[in-house]
Amino acid sequence: MTEHKDRRHALLSASGAYRWTACPPSAFLEAQFPDNVSDAAEEGTLAHELAEAKVKNYFLLDGLDKRKLRAVVTKLKKSPLWDDEMDGYTDEYLDYVRSAALAFENQPYVAIEKQVEFGTWVPDGFGTADCILIGGGTIHVIDFKYGKSPAGRVEAENNPQMILYALGAYDAYKMLYPMKRIKMTIVQPRLPDGVSEWDTTIDALLAQGEWIRERAALAVKGEGGFHPDDKACRFCRAKASCRARAEKNVALAFSDGMGNLPPLISNEEMGRYLKLGTDVAKWLSDLQEKALLECLAGREVPGWKAVEGRGSREWTDMDQAFAVLTGSGIEEAMLWEKRPLTLAQVEKAIGKKAFAECVGGYVVKRPGKPALVEETDKRPAVTNVVTAAEAFQ
Ligand code: SF4
Repeated sequence: MTEHKDRRHALLSASGAYRWTACPPSAFLEAQFPDNVSDAAEEGTLAHELAEAKVKNYFLLDGLDKRKLRAVVTKLKKSPLWDDEMDGYTDEYLDYVRSAALAFENQPYVAIEKQVEFGTWVPDGFGTADCILIGGGTIHVIDFKYGKSPAGRVEAENNPQMILYALGAYDAYKMLYPMKRIKMTIVQPRLPDGVSEWDTTIDALLAQGEWIRERAALAVKGEGGFHPDDKACRFCRAKASCRARAEKNVALAFSDGMGNLPPLISNEEMGRYLKLGTDVAKWLSDLQEKALLECLAGREVPGWKAVEGRGSREWTDMDQAFAVLTGSGIEEAMLWEKRPLTLAQVEKAIGKKAFAECVGGYVVKRPGKPALVEETDKRPAVTNVVTAAEAFQ
């Protein structure tokens, strides 16, 4: 297995395809900034290695039998980023892959962690598809994502990253297998309702490929214009210093004058401002983060400086301090408190499966606090308005 962290990266990567198709010159602009790997990304890499080993073991690929799987798991568990819940989440991914393979009429061809080349559409383009299943005229590309933030939820439909993996897989196998349909799935087991699927024809996929080819041609020339949008800018390495993003957000946040408009804004305007301003708050926070780094590096940011934040106190030797306290007559019971773990902590400690089997019957799901989301969100809308049926009950 090639270590996931050691894989090479392309200028026009599949994982950044949403960004550079939306904002083509971002490819060169962000290349000037270091590609710092976050803890979340390293945790995702670890989860991918575990998922890869489990799926290969299920299909008995690369001789990965039970013994070898145990050795991989033992090695991964030594990582400081290991968390037992990773086991349950990768099992959920394996369950999806297993049921997808069983949905084929006959045993499909299976490729795991397959490097696919999509240079026909994107210069020097390549990427790694987590799982490819082929059979009965259908190719199914499955991607595992380990993010846990609902804001980072990714949909499979029209997703440029999935389209590029699918094009690469189609290109690699079209001579061997006749294909008519393409199915793409993103499995995000840490999110509720974390499976997103999209099914389309090969012709439609190739048409999407043509559009991506045009965007890539602009990106490699640094053309096409900057197009800030909160999804594109979110993971762009230039996000804190990009002028196009700054100008857009300054215009949105500080546009002047009310003209002859009424003193109160309407709900239509409220909806429009919320949409337009989505990136303003994120941009200001990116700017603060970058300015702090500049000040700490000794560079001047006029009007701003770095100071020490509020500190906190901690014991140098808690056992010794408690011994002194109890020795001076303080009751031990005053120094300790016994608290139950939360439901989520118990589930994490004993694992999802054991939790459901042992105490699932004692769990009731209460509705969460209402939250404002965009209308494209999959969850049904709720209101406090009493319906006629409820009123007559
Ligand atoms: S920050 Fe946004 S607008 Fe600027 S280059 Fe990156 S993606 Fe484009």
